[in-house]
Order: sequence, then C-alpha cells, then structure tokens
Amino acid sequence: MQITPAGLLQLWETGSEQTLIEKTLLLLAKTSPAETPGTLAMLSIGERDEMLLTLREYLFGTKLLNTAACPYCSNMVEWEINSSDLHLQPVPSFPVNNYFGFVKNDVEIKYRLPNSNDLLKVTQSADAYLLNPEKLLTDCIVDVRYNNKALGAEALDKDLLRELDLQISKDDPQADIGMLLNCPACLNKWEAKFDIVTYLWTEIDIWATHLLHEVYLLASSFGWSEKDILNMSEQRRKLYVKLIQA
Ligand SMILES: [Zn+2]
Repeated sequence: MQITPAGLLQLWETGSEQTLIEKTLLLLAKTSPAETPGTLAMLSIGERDEMLLTLREYLFGTKLLNTAACPYCSNMVEWEINSSDLHLQPVPSFPVNNYFGFVKNDVEIKYRLPNSNDLLKVTQSADAYLLNPEKLLTDCIVDVRYNNKALGAEALDKDLLRELDLQISKDDPQADIGMLLNCPACLNKWEAKFDIVTYLWTEIDIWATHLLHEVYLLASSFGWSEKDILNMSEQRRKLYVKLIQA
C-alpha cells in the first residue's frame, strides 16, 4: 500500500461531499488500486471492514482509542484496544467468492453476503427497507430449492430467515464487532459496537484539518507552496511548525 499525504488529502476533499458508504468505497480503492469500483462494492461488509482496519493500521497505527456512553448512567467511558485483537477474518483475496449454500429441512438456499451495493440501496430507498425489515436479507438470496424444485425467496418462513441471518453473521464476522465495556461509575457491563467506517473517517477528517492548519502556518510564515509542504516528511513539518510557535 502506498498512500501519500497529498493523495489522502485529495480523497478527503472528494469524500466530504459524499455519503459514508461512498467515502468508504473511495478508501477501498486506495487500498486496492488494481480492482474496479464495481468489484470493491461487491466485497462483503466483513471483508470491507477487514480492509479498512488494515488501512487504519497503515495510516495511524494499531492503538485505537474512543469513548462510549454507558447505556445505564450515560457516563462517558473511555476505551483503548489494540486493533490486532479485532481481526476476525482474513483480508480478502481477489476475485472473492460471493456465493454460499445453506440447507435446512430439504430447503437449499444459495445466497451471497450483504455488500456496499446493498447498503447504498438501503440508504436510497429507506422506506422500502423500513416497511420490510427482511428485505436486506432476502435481497441476498440468489436461489431457493425444495427437493430440487425452484421456489422464490418469499416461500421462506421467518424461522428459516432468522437462521440464514445467523449463518451470514458467522460467515462474515468482521461485519459486527462488539466490545465488552465496564462503567466505573455504576459498574454496568455492556457490549458496545465498534464501527471502523465511522471511526476511520472521523480520524481522517481530524488529520486533514490538522494538516491543512500546518500548511497554513508554514505557507504564511515561509511562503512555501502547499505542494512542497505536503511533500515534506511529517517529522520536518512538525519541527518547522514548532519553530514558528516557539
Ligand atoms: Zn454507568
């Protein structure tokens, strides 16, 4: 992976106008320049999140820090974790296998894992998915057979859909990361969700704002161009900024 500060800054600027799912696709394109946007959008959510976690380690290291509100007393609890403990599935190798099979009571279901295209559809037609909470799941069903006779996904009952949903969580564990937290104020324990998409984009946003502030300081003090400042090593840039502020 080779990502320059100028390249990441350009991505941040392009992504600022986009939804979080689209921003994420831009980040994936940085990690895998040889793959087409269409291929990257078809990565399962777990595969996508595994790639984002690896990208985060490349950009900012393995120490993750955040806060979460205790659901019982609303106290803000700080947590810290090493991201190496959060890899629940391997980085995908291309081309990825998109199809899986599930058999129960002579019903054979061929399905795929939810991907970024599915999430984009959910945001674009939110009402349809609110009216039919199982739609995201049934969208992923490719084929249903009972004793080798083809059926539609609508023939599946709720219990079977629930089992398929559980199976998908097992196939794609990285898509749902939970962390056990303890509240020191009320001793409540709970599982907080960790969403790498929001986490990483927030970090990139803070990084970009900070970097542009440094560019502003150095350009206005020394008259250097933005391009030259961005091409400098971080160590040099920080030292020059320190000299101005001394
Ligand atoms: Zn609490």
